[in-house]
Amino acid sequence: MRFLLLTVFLVAPGLAQQYTIVLRGGHVVDPGNGIDAPMDVAISGDRIAAIAANIPAEEARRLVDASGFYVVPGLVDLHVHVFRYSGSLAPDDTSLPAGATTVVDAGGSGWRNFDEFRKTVIAHSKTRVLALLNIVGQGMAGEPFESDTEDMDPVKTADTILRNRDVIVGIKTAHYAKPGWTAIDRAVDAGRGAGVPVMVDDKIYTNSGRTMREELLEHLRPGDIHTHMYNDRQVELIDRFTGRVQPWMTEARRRGVLFDVGHGGGSFLWPVATRALEQGFVPDTISTDLHAESIAIQQSTMPNVMSKLMLLGMSLEDVLARSTVNPAKAIGRYPEVGTLGVGRVADIAVLEQQSGVFVFKDSWPAKRLGTKRLESVMTIRAGKIVYERGTPATASQDSTIYDLLFKHARIAGNNGESDIGIIGGRIARIGHGLKAAHARVLVEAEGYQVTPAGLAEGAPANVAVLDAGRTIMTVRSGRIVTDDEGLSIPDVSRAGPYSNFK
Ligand SMILES: [Zn+2]
Repeated sequence: MRFLLLTVFLVAPGLAQQYTIVLRGGHVVDPGNGIDAPMDVAISGDRIAAIAANIPAEEARRLVDASGFYVVPGLVDLHVHVFRYSGSLAPDDTSLPAGATTVVDAGGSGWRNFDEFRKTVIAHSKTRVLALLNIVGQGMAGEPFESDTEDMDPVKTADTILRNRDVIVGIKTAHYAKPGWTAIDRAVDAGRGAGVPVMVDDKIYTNSGRTMREELLEHLRPGDIHTHMYNDRQVELIDRFTGRVQPWMTEARRRGVLFDVGHGGGSFLWPVATRALEQGFVPDTISTDLHAESIAIQQSTMPNVMSKLMLLGMSLEDVLARSTVNPAKAIGRYPEVGTLGVGRVADIAVLEQQSGVFVFKDSWPAKRLGTKRLESVMTIRAGKIVYERGTPATASQDSTIYDLLFKHARIAGNNGESDIGIIGGRIARIGHGLKAAHARVLVEAEGYQVTPAGLAEGAPANVAVLDAGRTIMTVRSGRIVTDDEGLSIPDVSRAGPYSNFK
């Protein structure tokens, strides 16, 4: 693994340097152009000038050694909050460092305050900020505004979009808490008026008279977008009793409705995403729903959400397509964004795929351990380097994940304390300093004795934990069969409708 991206300023008098920056030796993945190979990328001004093997170094004013890294189109984050919403963030501080050069604000502004959004955020951001205009004139202003049907005006909404087509790419309806279809239908009306897609959230309350089936099959159009696809607010993507993808979700997809991740603080759950991906229900678009809480608790930046989907079996190439080409197409901006085509604006993300043991948290939050993680190393927006990673802390090269880890156990017959790592049905390691974060299940065994005496690496994982001579926990072939004191059980466990899923 390499940590430093070497950048060299070249001064070579007498040579014509036709490129401002050349990224050398990286592995280019540009799904839109079918490129997945070691290549150099040359930038001239704000544009991609060339992609080829072995672009000569002397033709670059600035040379970036990207070997060991992936060089990909600047990521397109279809769902963020950078205006009006209470948790909105500054895109240059949060999205650019994560490789996202284009972000779409999902409904922060409505027709009443779009001009303010444009002046105060869009015009001042290095990030390319696009907008889904809220069907609510006041935008994402909380209640009572967001359920005020009087302020949902399809004509004024469509007019505002048509006047700002350079930056408004669609409509958002969200947080609507009253019964009936007014918010969704007026958003779709405005969408027809302006010729743009509508993104809907997942507010289907039992007292609303709405159902997801009816919404998807009778109210939305092909090209409209359902965000928050992997949440659990209501019976939705996965049938909570059978674990199967609901048939109307598959039917809606067949008809052209798009499904977006919109991770956020509450909309990515391991059981739901796992079941969906097992049945091939992958996201059309990967997005973060980045806001103050989701960035602080789940760290749900684009590389984080992409890594989670890779943990569930998607390939790097596939998550990249759904983070570049697909979102660009969903908002009608492909190939203007989402590709490294020669002549396009040079928006580039340089990513590292790290190996080790990494913790990924979902929205409950529950964790999963993975052995790969994507991290943003450098971001280029319109030909300028706008983010460079500092020297990261040295990551552990140890990619061992323990199914069960006892910390600080006194093994009968031994002196002192040891950690005992179990993988499958075997004792994998006995030692000191085994990392707690590498354990699926962690048991703090300080003050307890573990038997049998003479426990050794490689032995079958049949152990007992004793408290003053009394057995309080037993493990057979690596599985916990009794745990009288709840040593292996988190103090707080959160139940949800899918919590019976593994
Ligand atoms: Zn959102």
